[in-house]
Amino acid sequence: MAKDEAKASDFSKGLLQSGELYKYILETSVYPRESEALKELRNVTDSHPQATMATAPDAGQLMEMLLKLVNARKTIELGVFTGYSLLLTALTLPEDGKVIGIDVNRSTYEIGLPVIKKAGVEHKIDFRESEALPVLDELLNHEENEGGFDFGYVDADKVSYWKYHERLMRLIKVGGIIVYDNTLWGGSVAEPDSSIPESRREGKKAIHELNKKLSADKRVQISQVALGDGITICRRLC
Ligand code: SAH
Ligand code: CA
Repeated sequence: MAKDEAKASDFSKGLLQSGELYKYILETSVYPRESEALKELRNVTDSHPQATMATAPDAGQLMEMLLKLVNARKTIELGVFTGYSLLLTALTLPEDGKVIGIDVNRSTYEIGLPVIKKAGVEHKIDFRESEALPVLDELLNHEENEGGFDFGYVDADKVSYWKYHERLMRLIKVGGIIVYDNTLWGGSVAEPDSSIPESRREGKKAIHELNKKLSADKRVQISQVALGDGITICRRLC
């Protein structure tokens, strides 16, 4: 057996073996603590054909914990959709906190905007309708933004995640956190291409490449968390 190959006794410890168990987690630990505003945003998103793109509430709960642990005041989000993770961030930040949220599509952000306004946190949000990369590059044109952010959440196009990582490694301060969403890609990262739909293969390849690169990146401490669709937490070390 190769040095880093997992034995059967390692992966038999995986806990999440059924949809029932996921339902249990949501109903016992997540929904009872979720704010009314986030519930409302989930409800208005439900009728959208791509509603499954919204950040999983259990992943959101962990994100809220991480934001608090680093005392996040300035954060950046790539991939807003209707705003579940953006609203969660804005609700968690202090009164003078700011989140820059970037998405190529303003119309989906506007689905959630009334809920964000009602929650009284719109003033903490700087929404930019744009491709994420030019916004990151523009921020890096200003020296004061180097290490100027406490937290980053990446949930946009998967093929660009590594490019985002290279920029965020300069924007997020040492000790700050970057969270990548969908890093288990529906579990398909562990399956052969032949058993997953053609439309999912490019994303799977990109995520698998990212996972290998993050694992080898000595500039960050990482934790691959198997909740939601898989998230990887990176803490910048140097
Ligand atoms: N975090 C969101 C879900 C994001 S879904 C939530 O909690 O609901 C992914 C989003 O990324 C989509 O809204 C899509 O428009 C956006 N996106 C895709 N490619 C992008 C790019 N190159 N730059 C910025 N946003 C992008
Ligand atoms: Ca996602």
